[in-house]
Amino acid sequence: MDRVFNFAAGPAVMPEEALRRAAAEMLNYKGTGMSVMEMSHRSAAYQEIFDHTVARLRQLMDIPADYEVLLLQGGATGQFAAVAMNLLSGFASYVDSGHFAHSAWMEAMKYGDARCIASTREEGYRRVPANDEITVDPSADYLYITTNNTIYGTRIPEIPDTGAVPLVADMSSNILSQPYDVRRFGVVFAGAQKNIGPAGLTVVIVRKDLLGRARKETPNVLNWTVMADKGSMLNTPPTYAIYMAGLCLDWLADQGGVAAIYQRNLQKSALLYDYLDQSRLFHGIADKGCRSLMNVTFRTEDDALDVAFVQEAAANGLCSLKGHRVAGGMRASIYNAMPLEGVQTLVRFMESFEKQHR
Ligand SMILES: *Cc1c(COP(=O)(O)O)cnc(C)c1O
Repeated sequence: MDRVFNFAAGPAVMPEEALRRAAAEMLNYKGTGMSVMEMSHRSAAYQEIFDHTVARLRQLMDIPADYEVLLLQGGATGQFAAVAMNLLSGFASYVDSGHFAHSAWMEAMKYGDARCIASTREEGYRRVPANDEITVDPSADYLYITTNNTIYGTRIPEIPDTGAVPLVADMSSNILSQPYDVRRFGVVFAGAQKNIGPAGLTVVIVRKDLLGRARKETPNVLNWTVMADKGSMLNTPPTYAIYMAGLCLDWLADQGGVAAIYQRNLQKSALLYDYLDQSRLFHGIADKGCRSLMNVTFRTEDDALDVAFVQEAAANGLCSLKGHRVAGGMRASIYNAMPLEGVQTLVRFMESFEKQHR
């Protein structure tokens, strides 16, 4: 069977090379006589796999030594609670730039004084709050942002300067898609299933001086300090997802790393946005100043035509283009592993659909 171009928002497309390597190693991983899935997480062979994934991530993101890299479970959503439980004692500032940012703020409010300091909710999240709308309170425990808003197709064009206030970032949908200076952040976290690897793994990168602040009742599996002390293996980690993530990161390194993939991401997203900007049938939804490189949202003026487009595209091997149910329209998620050819094919299909329906 031929593989399709998969534009799903997550779980999402993964590099074919990584999938092939996993297939080749499925029954007998490097002479161990077993699948990685069957290995004890305490075995030397598995520890090597784990260490490799962490080392690759450190290399690709240039993560300094004074940051811990934790490989956890519970998704980005688990971290919405973990952020507050590990850092919130006085008050925290939240930037509400989309669905997940809003959920993170709501979750944090369960545990303390989480304040929304800027929001574009009233504008349907077509843009993110500009940096001059964000007032940093120097006594906040942290300031929380979402670098890329997966559902609305926006990203923060320029990371705000928060001075000494730790910046906490949900990078789930654009981690590794463009160079970010980790030193600007106190905490970065991401669910793996968009731009890292398969679902089930959650990456947390935390500056070491922010450890040791967790409230007493924090569950151990969400406690960054406990997990850092235990090398992320207080309990069984998501072993296979960590292995797969390592293969995907190997692929990214082979592509030339983050700087190289960023250039390709600029090219891929420009192809779609340039087409949308001149189309007389489709138009982009997000404001031009904060368009996402990873999730391109668009629509026609006609809901029924949107439905027909998604169906016809799928019949032509262009899958999962339906927008999120809260946003409507269409969304093409074009993560690192989406080849340029996938975007070119999509644009050609949109051109022919436009000819037919205008
Ligand atoms: C997908 C997503 C989430 C939710 O991730 P889970 O791993 O499903 O909990 C949170 N934030 C952002 C930005 C996302 O894209």
